[in-house]
Amino acid sequence: MSLDILIRNATVVDGSGGPRYRADVGIQDSRIAEIGRILTPAATTIDADGLILSPGFIDGHTHMDAQVNWDPLGSCSCWHGVTSVVMGNCGFALAPCAPEDQEWFARCLEAVEDIPTEAMMAGIDWTWETFPEYLATVDRVPKGINYGAYLGHSALRMYTMGERALSEKATEDDLKRMGRSVAEALEAGALGFSSSHATTHITPDGSPVASRIGDWDELSYIIGEMAKKNAGIFQVGPDMSGGEAHRTFLARLREVALKTGRPIMFSALSTRQGDKPNHWQYQTDYLDEVAQAGARMYGQVTTRSINAIFSLKSYLPFDVLPSWAPLRALPLEEQKRALSDPSVRRQLIAEEAQMKPRDNVMQGGGAATTDPRKPDYDNLFAMRDVRWDDPTIAELARDRKQNPVEVMIDLSLENEDQIYVQPLVNEAPDEVLGLIRHPRTLATFSDSGAHVCQEMGSSLQTHMMSYWVRDREAFSLEEAVRMLTFDNASAWELPDRGLVRTGYKADVLLFDESAIRPKLPTVETDLPGGSRRLVQKAEGIAYTIVNGEVTLRDGEATGANPGEVLRGAAWQGDS
Ligand SMILES: [Zn+2]
Repeated sequence: MSLDILIRNATVVDGSGGPRYRADVGIQDSRIAEIGRILTPAATTIDADGLILSPGFIDGHTHMDAQVNWDPLGSCSCWHGVTSVVMGNCGFALAPCAPEDQEWFARCLEAVEDIPTEAMMAGIDWTWETFPEYLATVDRVPKGINYGAYLGHSALRMYTMGERALSEKATEDDLKRMGRSVAEALEAGALGFSSSHATTHITPDGSPVASRIGDWDELSYIIGEMAKKNAGIFQVGPDMSGGEAHRTFLARLREVALKTGRPIMFSALSTRQGDKPNHWQYQTDYLDEVAQAGARMYGQVTTRSINAIFSLKSYLPFDVLPSWAPLRALPLEEQKRALSDPSVRRQLIAEEAQMKPRDNVMQGGGAATTDPRKPDYDNLFAMRDVRWDDPTIAELARDRKQNPVEVMIDLSLENEDQIYVQPLVNEAPDEVLGLIRHPRTLATFSDSGAHVCQEMGSSLQTHMMSYWVRDREAFSLEEAVRMLTFDNASAWELPDRGLVRTGYKADVLLFDESAIRPKLPTVETDLPGGSRRLVQKAEGIAYTIVNGEVTLRDGEATGANPGEVLRGAAWQGDS
């Protein structure tokens, strides 16, 4: 016998949370074959002296459904140690989809998730109609990471009910057809079913997305169909428009959880947006209470604030104002010339007074960039590095004795890549810490693949390592790795991933624990059709190995595409 890869002298942090140990790790036929002092010869040997060997990270909340068609790498998640993702979250999916509805689906995804329609129309070969056909396409396309998918409620409702999906209650017949599609999807390997009640989720004309028209009886019926198979996870974006709406939502979710017994996940956030929002502890207390009552429920949390991101090359908060709009449509160099002109600047600065005043309407990264309110300059940061101790625009305005708008113009002229960050939810790091420490929450929720030019959540894993482990010492490396690997593998019921253990799939990272961290995000125009997006890479990860093949070496792609489809418990296939 001979190994494919032998990793020598690694410090193994195995994902269980147990203490690190020194060992060699041998990989053969996509799996971990041996751990210990290995004498077996190998085709490739890697010296991992001084490096941590951990399982690849697992991110259960992404929107890479479109991107998987054109980006074999799985960026930007792949650069942060992620080797497995779940897509199809929040009810948004590209299947099932009737051929004549393809562009409408694309436009809905653009409206909610800022995935450009032109990128989708240029980058996707729509070879599917049903969910099983979509998953077969994902299986076929080259992939550098592993993908699991939910059947999305908005897609399913529109496919089943047509136009009625956006306004009407489902009939008995609609319910039966939706239930059958869910059963079919589970048999094809879907990890579950997703939906959304979030008021931030709207169609291109501003009306609620289809999943928000569905009532609780409909959800209860569909999740009941999953319960009949004792398979499938239900993921849902909660109504967080205000404290009362949120509490009502959680109370109904509790009923469904207890009735069906299926694992349920919702995003647990701390926010000061919305009408009298609930404290984050309301959600963690709720998770404990619901568990006590007999349900299985998880809160999905990020490892830092969810931010609207602004820059000269993407959005600025002022883009919709009358003098700003035509200027911002110019090529970059012409914009810079205009922004340097004193009379133009006076006009631009004066117009800020006309912005919509701040209110307590809950805004996601989408609306905050495309329908911005007058900025709170005490909550708008000029990013210097990734240590998250950046100055606010208000502080800089005081120091420079300038108007805040002028500060932003000048910083952007000095550095056209200057990034501004406006925390939307989870503004307070200590509240984030409370959320991620809770045993019933999952560190996930990058939203990768979505909000491509509005947010940058893909670095949540490297942020965990650099900020919470190294800078704040809030978690040991072993604990943090467990949260990003074994905990998520367990919650999503992925049977042979998330641990360094013989027989498990060889999704493995080798990284320098003193150096791993995100880099600053930049704006690139590398989407199909040339659309722009935010790109964030990382440093400190020497090797990323997926299913036993090296996919990234010091962040550079090797060209290997060993990614697989992650299939749920009711899968009836054989490949
Ligand atoms: Zn989502």
